[in-house]
Amino acid sequence: MSENDVYQRLRGHLAALRLPAAAEALPGELDHARDAGLSHTAFLERLLAVEVAAADARRRTSLAQFACLPAPWKITDFDFDAQPSVDRKLITELAALRFLDDATNVLLIGPPGVGKTMLAVGLGHAAVTAGYRTHYTTAADLAARCHRAAIEGRWASTMRFYAQPRLLIIDELGYLPMPAEGAAALFQVITQRHFKGSVVLTTNLGIPSWGKIFDDPMVAAAMLDRLLHRSVVFNITGESYRMRTYRARATRLRAGDGTP
Ligand code: ADP
Ligand code: MG
Repeated sequence: MSENDVYQRLRGHLAALRLPAAAEALPGELDHARDAGLSHTAFLERLLAVEVAAADARRRTSLAQFACLPAPWKITDFDFDAQPSVDRKLITELAALRFLDDATNVLLIGPPGVGKTMLAVGLGHAAVTAGYRTHYTTAADLAARCHRAAIEGRWASTMRFYAQPRLLIIDELGYLPMPAEGAAALFQVITQRHFKGSVVLTTNLGIPSWGKIFDDPMVAAAMLDRLLHRSVVFNITGESYRMRTYRARATRLRAGDGTP
């Protein structure tokens, strides 16, 4: 068999094994091996490393797409000095993601604009970067999706969808009133993740007001029970970050300090 035949067969093997990055890198790597006098082992290692890197990049892209994070915020972007009610040490510890190991939940409670979504998304990015399957949804979207699933006979697969990620972020619970079936769906999602996967949940309602989100105070109590069983709770107080920066700017302008 000629050298060219062997080369074509090798291309065929790489295609059959679905190693497209290695196939593409093959001519270059062969030239390099020849020029640098690499051993067979060294050549093969380099070629397969190309495929491993490509597979890793594909996995990362797919994790990032699946996560649906709505903003690029990282925990390191958060201005802790502006928000002293947030325990910087505790957030930094959470960003190390050990809480995912024992399915601990994180509750971020506070009025609009104080950075709840930013912190939740920051934890989401940390999880995606570390290679954990993560998914972001708002409570209203989750309820609507479950409602559609129930109508279309896809309830079980939708429940599996929400059970599967290592980290599920549920944003904005309590911003919109939730119909009874939405509350029931949320309850089921929380219940099936209990002990299995972490939930980061943000809400503008303090824990005593949770009954208001749901028609049924028993459902509210049972859901809280599961969420709080193993959880870290942040009660964020203070005013909206944007209002704060707006007000600071206005004060500076009034004081005649030209800086915008
Ligand atoms: P919430 O979810 O509590 O309503 P967000 O997380 O959406 O608030 O924050 C509102 C806006 O203010 C966002 O643009 C966010 O990036 C910014 N923000 C809030 N808190 C901080 C902070 N401590 N440091 C930096 N930016 C902040
Ligand atoms: Mg928010």
